[in-house]
Amino acid sequence: MEEAELKEYLSSCGAFLEGHFQLSSGLHSPNYAQCALALKNPAWAGKLGAALAAGWKWQKPDLILSPAMGGLIIGHEVARAFGVDFIFTERENNVMTLRRGFSLPKGARLIIVEDVFTTGKSTLETAALAAACGAETIGAMAVVNRMGAKALPFPSLCILRLELLVYQPENCPLCRAGVPVVKPGSRKF
Ligand code: ZN
Repeated sequence: MEEAELKEYLSSCGAFLEGHFQLSSGLHSPNYAQCALALKNPAWAGKLGAALAAGWKWQKPDLILSPAMGGLIIGHEVARAFGVDFIFTERENNVMTLRRGFSLPKGARLIIVEDVFTTGKSTLETAALAAACGAETIGAMAVVNRMGAKALPFPSLCILRLELLVYQPENCPLCRAGVPVVKPGSRKF
């Protein structure tokens, strides 16, 4: 699979929106990546997962760990491509936890897989949970990276790097222009 073909698919499937959005961080942005739209097609989700696994140049993981919900589909596809297990974390009272009988073997080397890196917060929380279980995060990957120059403390890989324009609500030019703000996920497309 050609990288150019994947990038063309990502920009053609409606996964990138322009408007006025309130991100989960509370910051406002004129654009938003809705990766779920890129992953609704199982064949393309499989191709994206395979491309991420094929592009991984570091240690092979023992398993894939993703924070729900965003990382579920792509994490599963990356795990399929590596031929390893896939488990996921969830927030319980805002704390990242493993539920549903999932556990991390001590010493396991894992890759955290997400749909989009935005602030890196959920990736770091997932890595902290893994460390608390005695597992080692050897890297992280996402379909889209909007983190800009901010780096994660381990090797990372993405298919598409997007410029992330964000504003504090009080300094947001779109708010000042009176454009209604949308919380992504709350709007029907
Ligand atoms: Zn705004």
